Amino acid sequence: MPVLIFLDQSEGHLKKNSYEAAAYGAKVAELMSTKAEGVVLGPASGDLSTLGKYGLQKIHHVKSDVFSNFDAQTYTSVIADVAKGMNADVIIFSNNMDGRAIAPRLSVKLKAGLVSGAVSLPDVTNGFVVKKNVFSGKAFANVSINTPIKIISLNPNAYKPVEGEGTAEIVEFTSSVGDSKVKVTAINKLDGEVPLAEAELVVSGGRGLKGPDNWHLLTDFAKVIGAATACSRAVADADWRPHHEHVGQTGLAIAPNLYFAVGISGAIQHLAGVNRSKVIVVINKDPEAPFFKAADYGIVGDAFEVMPKIIEATKKIKGM
Ligand SMILES: Cc1cc2nc3c(=O)[nH]c(=O)nc-3n(C[C@H](O)[C@H](O)[C@H](O)COP(=O)(O)OP(=O)(O)OC[C@H]3O[C@@H](n4cnc5c(N)ncnc54)[C@H](O)[C@@H]3O)c2cc1C
Repeated sequence: MPVLIFLDQSEGHLKKNSYEAAAYGAKVAELMSTKAEGVVLGPASGDLSTLGKYGLQKIHHVKSDVFSNFDAQTYTSVIADVAKGMNADVIIFSNNMDGRAIAPRLSVKLKAGLVSGAVSLPDVTNGFVVKKNVFSGKAFANVSINTPIKIISLNPNAYKPVEGEGTAEIVEFTSSVGDSKVKVTAINKLDGEVPLAEAELVVSGGRGLKGPDNWHLLTDFAKVIGAATACSRAVADADWRPHHEHVGQTGLAIAPNLYFAVGISGAIQHLAGVNRSKVIVVINKDPEAPFFKAADYGIVGDAFEVMPKIIEATKKIKGM
């Protein structure tokens, strides 16, 4: 029975994590000798049939405007209907904000075992075993799902989608879910900023920057490379930066391609939110700072000397 993949959108555009989930789900289907099908909720601006390139045979598209704004309850209900209609055995989400809101609800609704935060393909040779991060990324656990329906949410950046050939069939799914119980009355976006949760590049600062007046060292660099900005909790608690920029165990967990950390010690609670980044660069004047142990590249130096040089050199490379 087929694998169903939830393909998350933002304003009618598929998110990057959706391609990862699609390719991952297609591979799971291949391992189980079955088909992979996707579900898209709300109007879509792109051509969904191109998802065939990631191995999906069919897309169940619910076009209704009701799904333009995210509501976990209505999303869960309609995904449950799609899953029941096609007898899905395995349902895949990205372990992003939307996936984290829907997958547990769906797990209850369908009485399905759920593994959240999968980091690799399941082992289907003897049962159905999924590897996931535990203890804030400090260890792995192999979890066996024993229920007939299985749900996996895949960590962002854990699976690389590779484009192949193919065209997916689009099937319109008419939802009987009805109106949402919540109504979004306004969305206020921060103009000109790269949203942190989705950012590929993140420039982040800690208490080593000494105060909010010095943040131009980070925002200037972030502008040059097109990055989002983040900070440690100590910085947000001191009101140097807004709380929505705080990353870590009690803040946002992110997985960008580049996490550029300046004047951050690398406390375990901070690492918990950033250690899934592909490449970590650390600038700290203390060679013993714990963050260097997690870094791919490190500069031992004073941020006030190093950052202006990095900004200048990057501008030169970019011809700015
Ligand atoms: C339950 C709990 C949850 C928590 N959750 C989070 C969380 O989600 N996120 C989070 O970030 N923290 C969290 N914390 C706090 C965490 O333990 C640290 O206190 C915090 O991350 C420290 O922030 P920091 O690295 O900016 O500051 P500091 O620990 O003060 O480190 C500043 C660093 O800057 C370096 N430095 C100083 N001057 C310079 C300079 N001129 N140039 C270069 N480097 C310089 C120093 O060597 C030092 O390493 C949590 C704590 C608890 C107890």
